[in-house]
Amino acid sequence: MISRRRWMSGSAALAAASALQASSKNLVISSANGLRACARAMEILKSGGDTLDAVVAGVSINEEDPEDDSVGYGGLPNEDGVVELDASVMHGPTRRAGSVASVRGIKHVSKLAKLVMEQTDHIMLVGEGAVRFARAYGFKEENLLTEKSRLAWLVWKRSLRDAAGHNNWTDGLDAPPSKPSAELKRMFPEAPEEWLAYAWDRACNPPTGTINCLALNAKGEISGVTTTSGLAWKLAGRVGDSPIIGAGLYVDQDVGAAGSTGRGEENIRVAGAHTIVENMRHGMTPKEACLDALKRISRNYGDDLDRLRKFDINFYALRKDGLYAGASLWNGGIRQGRLMPRQFAVHDGDKSRLEPCVFLYERKA
Ligand code: ASP
Repeated sequence: MISRRRWMSGSAALAAASALQASSKNLVISSANGLRACARAMEILKSGGDTLDAVVAGVSINEEDPEDDSVGYGGLPNEDGVVELDASVMHGPTRRAGSVASVRGIKHVSKLAKLVMEQTDHIMLVGEGAVRFARAYGFKEENLLTEKSRLAWLVWKRSLRDAAGHNNWTDGLDAPPSKPSAELKRMFPEAPEEWLAYAWDRACNPPTGTINCLALNAKGEISGVTTTSGLAWKLAGRVGDSPIIGAGLYVDQDVGAAGSTGRGEENIRVAGAHTIVENMRHGMTPKEACLDALKRISRNYGDDLDRLRKFDINFYALRKDGLYAGASLWNGGIRQGRLMPRQFAVHDGDKSRLEPCVFLYERKA
């Protein structure tokens, strides 16, 4: 039987949520790679379109863009050199969700996740089953590995060495010694210098990426999407947080929405997006709610900064009343000795802009 005390605290949360006045403004936020996605989503909101149609159309830009190597076409592949994509969607007004994971050969996985939501009695399809479902709906199958991503994968593979510095993929032990850059040039004489520099950087610092995009319209309706190629060089079949409802994405029409990018394994362990929405339901601001989820991740490592320094993770939250935040574990990442501050994209009607994320820990360049 539910105790009076528990019932009271549950109803207090409901009261806090219903006390939130729905915003009457269109608003879109996303991870930092979503400036164009926010702009496209905003156009659709302004023309009266649905919030989920808006965010899915927005992130399709990243899914098509070979230069975004963390999403869709041109995404960095798994350790076998195969691109495997994950995505999820949630539609606030109908309180429905859909997701797909480990999908090969289909670039618009956010549309596919939406179709799972709309056209099946299920929430999640994975692997070959998801591809068969896509085929049934006429999705085009294509090789998602671009030449640039293939080069980065090969360079990563060839840079793996045993304790004696030996690798089966390099030429024989009798090859003359050379510096990494000269060695790469010799191995891939046709590749442009700029691609080699990119490939070496990606091999040494496997990137995280993904796009999460959340929208609120003038009627107070909320939806969200997360789409990704996952962690570069992952094991085949590895699924991250992005397609997990409650981790990479969560929307509750009564409260708001949250999503994540970065190391998914950490997010899954704290059910980050759901935790953030629940925090907001209990009265936290989006900023407080995200920082609390980050503290839970830190707590999983006993707040040991030396271990936490090895990864980063970002959360995005949009409350029904139009308050929003982007938050990250670290203030930024170090690239070529420079601190790159963590930011997120916002569009509130005029044009897309980047805003700084709040953060839990600070690293110095
Ligand atoms: N969160 C994604 C995953 O773990 C990766 C990322 O955002 O970079 O699959």
